[in-house]
Amino acid sequence: MGDPASILARAEETLRPLHLAASQAWWDSSTAATEEHERQRVAAELALSDALAEPDLFREVSAARENGAESLVRRELELLYQGLLSNQVPEEIRHRIVQLEASVDSRFSQHRAIVGGRQLDDNEIRRVLRESDDPAERREAWEGSKTVGAAVADDVRQLARLRNEAARGLGYRDWFALALATMEMDENRLFQTLDECDTLTAGPFARWKAETDAALARRFGCGVDELRPWHYEDVFFQEVPVTGSVDTSEAFADTDVVALARKTFDGLGLPTATILDRSDLFPRDGKSQHAFCIDIDREGDVRVLCNIEPSERWMETMLHEFGHATYDRECDRTLPWLVRTASHPLTTEGIAMLFGRLTRDPTWLTEVAGVDRADVAALRPDLVAARRAGLLVFARWVLVMTTFERRLYADPDGDLDAFWWDLVERYQRVRRPDGRQAPDWAAKIHLAAAPVYYQNYLYGELFASQLDATLATRTGGLVDRPEAGALLAREVFGPGTSLRWDELVARATGGPLSAAHLARQLAA
Ligand SMILES: [Zn+2]
Repeated sequence: MGDPASILARAEETLRPLHLAASQAWWDSSTAATEEHERQRVAAELALSDALAEPDLFREVSAARENGAESLVRRELELLYQGLLSNQVPEEIRHRIVQLEASVDSRFSQHRAIVGGRQLDDNEIRRVLRESDDPAERREAWEGSKTVGAAVADDVRQLARLRNEAARGLGYRDWFALALATMEMDENRLFQTLDECDTLTAGPFARWKAETDAALARRFGCGVDELRPWHYEDVFFQEVPVTGSVDTSEAFADTDVVALARKTFDGLGLPTATILDRSDLFPRDGKSQHAFCIDIDREGDVRVLCNIEPSERWMETMLHEFGHATYDRECDRTLPWLVRTASHPLTTEGIAMLFGRLTRDPTWLTEVAGVDRADVAALRPDLVAARRAGLLVFARWVLVMTTFERRLYADPDGDLDAFWWDLVERYQRVRRPDGRQAPDWAAKIHLAAAPVYYQNYLYGELFASQLDATLATRTGGLVDRPEAGALLAREVFGPGTSLRWDELVARATGGPLSAAHLARQLAA
């Protein structure tokens, strides 16, 4: 009964098929959001959650964890313990959470904004906000993008209450605290890092933003103080608008996004054919409008969902998702199943960002995308500025999301609508629409579907910057360098989560995760 090896063997035997079924069902419901698929997804997730809730298994794992064991077994027990812990919750609460998550997620997949009497998908809304010079049309598109928030806000608050109830039953302050603990993250350190990033970015962001606002005001023929959220390009202003950045739209207008992604990874000796074969890459009704990667079986069945159109944004997203996919696929398959997955969300986001950033990399643009050398040379200063602006804009956006999310769990019944805009005004320096009273925060799918995840993107940026410096020193860069692919496979992908994230980062980059390299990139 009690020896760690047999506990782990039995746990794997139970959990592995349930995990596979839940992954498959999640894929099905994201590629075709039908009622039947939602039902199947809920059934599969409930079965997995029930197995993770088993009190006997939890007791055994807790006891075995206290006793010494060799390091890999200890690591497996620790991960299993964390996975079980957040499920030691009364069945009724667990089941309501799973059902509500699936229901909200499926409404996101089905929802299309109505603009000018027409249904527009997210790509079409983005096109209006990129191209239209008509503020009224832009405003309508932006407002349309927020209607999904109003449709799901009550349920997102309810999810926060239910998650809190679960966390408090386990002795945690709220779900925010529990989620960080089971992700091996320290809340104090997280907010120290956020403060550090706030300090690092506040000045440069304000200067960049003032120039960009002046350019936008000229474009729209209004005063800077009249700019509102719809004058920017991304509905959350989480990306840099073309005004105030570099316009690479021509370089990407006829891009074969799939072919360039394949070529990028081929150049590193990291093949993508089996992933591409199983992926679902182009837009369709009733399909999730987002992008993600999923490792179905930890045996090589890795898939990507995208909604590609020829644009820099989708090129970046495709490289990002194939960064995740390559990580999953290159995980050492001789490792035990429990540790055969990315070390941590932040390490896989870091890899994804390292690849996503390539669309503004002069070497990638010439060697992989085949843009004329002279054109790239002429663009080079703008590309450097655009990369820097991208880091600034994204860091400010994560400050909004993570600070908001802590409040969502601290006070799910509070005035979240106003708090959201307080944060947007403070960190992103975007003015709220006059008299706006709407749950605009709820239009961000992560709050419902990927709770307490957003901080991983900021840590991911830090890890990407740190890896970038390591690759520059050890392999002379990333693009078209098989030795860089080999380094990533050996030092980052291979070990899976047999190493804790902080150990993995230190081993791969020679130092602990810090904001130093990001600071250097911002200063450059
Ligand atoms: Zn990602």
